Amino acid sequence: MTNTLYDSLFAHHEGNTAPFLQLDNGQVVSYDAFLQRTAQIAHVLQNCGVSPGDRIVVQAPKLADTIALYAASVQAGAVYLPLNTAYTMAELDYFISDAQPALIVCDSNDKVEFEQLATRSGAKLLTLGGENSSLSREADAQPCAFETVDRAPEDLAALLYTSGTTGRSKGAMLSHRNLLSNAQALVDMWGITDGDRLIHALPIFHTHGLFVAMNTSLLAGSKVRLMKKFDTEMILEELPNSTLLMGVPTFYTRLLAHDGFTDEITENMRLFISGSAPLLAETHVAFETRTGHRILERYGMTETNMNTSNPYSGERRAGTVGMALPGTEVIVTNPETGEPLPQGEIGMIEVRGPNVFQGYWQMPEKTAEELRENGFFITGDLGQYSADGYLSIVGRSKDLIITGGYNVYPKEIEDVLNDVDGVQESAVFGVPDDEFGEAIIAALVAEPRAQLQVEQIESIIRNKLSRFKHPRRYELVQELPRNTMGKVQKNVLRERYANKEL
Ligand code: ATP
Ligand code: MG
Repeated sequence: MTNTLYDSLFAHHEGNTAPFLQLDNGQVVSYDAFLQRTAQIAHVLQNCGVSPGDRIVVQAPKLADTIALYAASVQAGAVYLPLNTAYTMAELDYFISDAQPALIVCDSNDKVEFEQLATRSGAKLLTLGGENSSLSREADAQPCAFETVDRAPEDLAALLYTSGTTGRSKGAMLSHRNLLSNAQALVDMWGITDGDRLIHALPIFHTHGLFVAMNTSLLAGSKVRLMKKFDTEMILEELPNSTLLMGVPTFYTRLLAHDGFTDEITENMRLFISGSAPLLAETHVAFETRTGHRILERYGMTETNMNTSNPYSGERRAGTVGMALPGTEVIVTNPETGEPLPQGEIGMIEVRGPNVFQGYWQMPEKTAEELRENGFFITGDLGQYSADGYLSIVGRSKDLIITGGYNVYPKEIEDVLNDVDGVQESAVFGVPDDEFGEAIIAALVAEPRAQLQVEQIESIIRNKLSRFKHPRRYELVQELPRNTMGKVQKNVLRERYANKEL
């Protein structure tokens, strides 16, 4: 009897009384107690009629029971499908009708709205969180042991929807082997052990917080300080007793904005990791100046988990995402022909390895377009290798601007703009233009209290970039449009400025 993911991440903790989850209210859940809770929830799933291969849709608060629900789904052989807690009912309707789950688990506060969705889709409904949590109540009455359902390496463990930054979210089918192989590679790469204590302030409905953070901790047996959400003050309190932080770039800019964030407070820390969006080189430098730590940036996505990482022991280079993880191939190809490009040229990043997903749920055409027969996945990201093998992400191919026949990579212009005094951040994008095909627009966010002078910015750009890369217009905006994962939505900017007079 084997269950690839359960056996490796969970089963070996039986009888392990070491702390696993440490919650905001001070409660500590040991590994053994966590496994018992997992078994109780696995019984509830089975009693609800969840069979191996069935999807379980979960839009729930970040609780110990929610993590146990993920573990229980694996143990019962189901397919775990977590959804962003910010999704509205209309969005949920899409995901639920697309995924056809056997069971939906929602926040107890949202029960009334979910009842309609569940009835329409024919799924059972349970709730999590607060006094009226039907899942927790039913689990309390179940035995603390469960016979693990057999699952082979190629069976699905999760269906994770992409963040929807470039269009409608797609369901990525992830197998037991996909998830396990990546957790193993990351634990090795980052030297994670049972001596680590991870500050977990990420959401648990996304690859980063669920798989990168939880699966590696489970595999290594680390302690996890599970925070409901990112809170600068709370992070500052926890840093002296922790060793590891996994964050998105905004975690690091927020920490740097706080005077209480010092080198002393980070003395016990072993590693700060960043991903999910580009980390500005200046954040990297400011972080090292303040703390003496170099942030380790890595690169991944829903479809593949992690692909590359800066080295743990070697040089962690700002503005790069490091090299391919062991066992994973990451190549840069000509977007038209798919042929590998010589080192140094910008092209499409393609990935092959045990981490690469099984295809998009119910989208065979999209799968065929993006997953080559030879196993390479066409990521949609453009990148470039340095002579010594560091990969830099240049941007998404959908964001590439073609103006007057020239390819313009927005990041090159953004890097220059971000360096201008008073500019907090920028987003460069193309809008349709009769004469040139596309015209370049730059949206700029000023630093607090800074007054941006467009003429001054134009003259800096003139000095640094060739003419065809000069933005036609600058838009000063309060903030950049971001999706619920904090990623800049250039499609929103393109639409917003498409029909404005240039
Ligand atoms: P969708 O595929 O629905 O448009 P998405 O690509 O944003 O949304 P995710 O799978 O959550 O959905 O995000 C993966 C993407 O995030 C990568 O393809 C890449 O563009 C970006 N990304 C992740 N890590 C990094 C990084 N370190 N630097 C730059 N970009 C990154
Ligand atoms: Mg994507």
